[in-house]
Amino acid sequence: MTTREQRIADFIAPFRVEPGKNVKLGKDFAPDFKGTVRSKKRGRKLLVQGTELLSEYQSRLYAQHTHGVLVVLQALDAGGKDGTIRHVMTGVNPQGVSVHSFKVPTNEELDHDYLWRYGLRLPARGEIGIFNRSHYEEVLVVRVHPELLDRQRLPAEAQKGLWSRRYREINEWERMLSDNGFKIVKLFLNLSREEQRIRFLRRIDLRDHNWKFSSADVREREYWDSYQQAFSRMLARTSTEWAPWYVIPADRKWYARIAAAAVIANALIDLDPRYPKVDKKARAALQEIKATLEKQAPKGAAADPFAASMPSG
Ligand code: AMP
Ligand code: MG
Repeated sequence: MTTREQRIADFIAPFRVEPGKNVKLGKDFAPDFKGTVRSKKRGRKLLVQGTELLSEYQSRLYAQHTHGVLVVLQALDAGGKDGTIRHVMTGVNPQGVSVHSFKVPTNEELDHDYLWRYGLRLPARGEIGIFNRSHYEEVLVVRVHPELLDRQRLPAEAQKGLWSRRYREINEWERMLSDNGFKIVKLFLNLSREEQRIRFLRRIDLRDHNWKFSSADVREREYWDSYQQAFSRMLARTSTEWAPWYVIPADRKWYARIAAAAVIANALIDLDPRYPKVDKKARAALQEIKATLEKQAPKGAAADPFAASMPSG
């Protein structure tokens, strides 16, 4: 491991949820943690370095075309999911990235098993796919609001021990994906109740932000404690060796962005994608093609197009 790779691994270690460990959000993870990064200015420099690194790795992932990466983003309202995607993925070739935002399921989606619609949106090999909300809503919002479960029309026998079974099924699904070359990076943006209040107020005060404000979000805030409990259980039950959760301190947007970039970079470093090697024979073939192309230059044209337009003498 190079020192840079070690630094990234050390930086993200406090965010990792150890598989099998109990989690109590309010107690175990601080939303305003900023570790050793003292200032926003320093943070901005780190983010630039992080995004450059991501861009380099993504090119290699795309060229190698054997692995895919799925980034799962979960947060409470105003947690900063959209901004994180925008900032972390700048500089990355859009051809190799897909983002999908999951909303309230449609009737067609409800007519299938609960993982169906997520399977349809998975990244292909060579791609980074981002889930803005994800299959985890099935053990979060659906757990907090049991009436949503009623809409899923499950047979009676499928209702017994439902939450434990969903955690297990999600873990197994992710294991299958990971065994077949798809790395899953799970980020929970951990926002404090007070910071959420401040962000809602800002959405009301700033006209350009009004569109982001929804009174439904304020209603959802009433369920804060139920959500904290659902998130804690989800983190404890679905952080696995093959797809661990990372709890990103989200009260400072600039910090959340470098933390998220670092976790994604770490996953790519782990995969270590390489540009496909061109062997001797293939290189010789390329040289032959080159010679043919060079012979096809129009008669009288200068070898150097810029030199041709220069006044002579
Ligand atoms: P937003 O992310 O603000 O555009 O809102 C999307 C909404 O869809 C949120 O209120 C989510 O709780 C809701 N949602 C996403 N997935 C599900 C799901 N599986 N079941 C019910 N509601 C969902
Ligand atoms: Mg919303």
